[in-house]
Amino acid sequence: MIENVRIVMVHTSHPGNIGAAARAMKNMCVSQLALVNPREFPNAEATARASGADDILAAAHTVEDLASAVADCRVVIGASARIRSVRWPLLAPREAAEVAALEARSAPVAIVFGRESSGLSNDELDLCTHLVHIPTNPAYSSLNVAMAVQVICYELMLTTVADAGPAPTTSPDPAQGRMASIAEMEGFFGHLAQALDEIGFTDERRSEKLLRRLRRLFHRAAPDSEEVNILRGILSAAQGRKSMRR
Ligand code: SAH
Repeated sequence: MIENVRIVMVHTSHPGNIGAAARAMKNMCVSQLALVNPREFPNAEATARASGADDILAAAHTVEDLASAVADCRVVIGASARIRSVRWPLLAPREAAEVAALEARSAPVAIVFGRESSGLSNDELDLCTHLVHIPTNPAYSSLNVAMAVQVICYELMLTTVADAGPAPTTSPDPAQGRMASIAEMEGFFGHLAQALDEIGFTDERRSEKLLRRLRRLFHRAAPDSEEVNILRGILSAAQGRKSMRR
């Protein structure tokens, strides 16, 4: 089985799609499923479509929102049927599988699939460190969500089989510690938004776009926990809560 990779399905409307995704996962040796606020689950149609992969359904975690489903991850890959205008690092399925397989050697990774009707919201995309798009007919680019799960899990299985060598024992940069989790990054982004507001740098009109760009910048830098704490210390100082001179 492929460890440490979590498939997350957000607000799925049709329980049959949850079952079909579980089947697709089990075929490809992926077992961890998280469901964010599904419309109907557990459900007989989900079980029927899982067709023997009901162990995956039984072990699935249901949570209220995407932030809770990915809080312990450092790498969160959102699957998007559209090529978005705000440019997150956009990966092809094979590249996404490579990023996920490498990260999964040391920490949980989430791959997130959106609603059948409208995909992932901007707030949900904000929690993603990368996006993956499955190449399609440009005039008809939206796959059924369980089929998108199938394609990504297939790539993951191929990559994991090819990549079965020993896990690296040292991090590439010995000066860098453990990369911050999404929960730590979200704490930082909340603090950043508040500080930019308090020091008068943002106004309501431009803050959303600006914060989205800053999120991308800091995700790209992939800071460790200590670096996030340093940044937060700087924010607190800028907010006048602490004197650095004492
Ligand atoms: N109408 C929606 C499509 C939803 S399809 C929209 O325009 O966004 C449901 C989910 O399946 C998507 O949120 C995405 O996670 C996944 N998906 C569908 N087609 C995909 C593709 N070509 N590449 C990557 N993910 C895809």
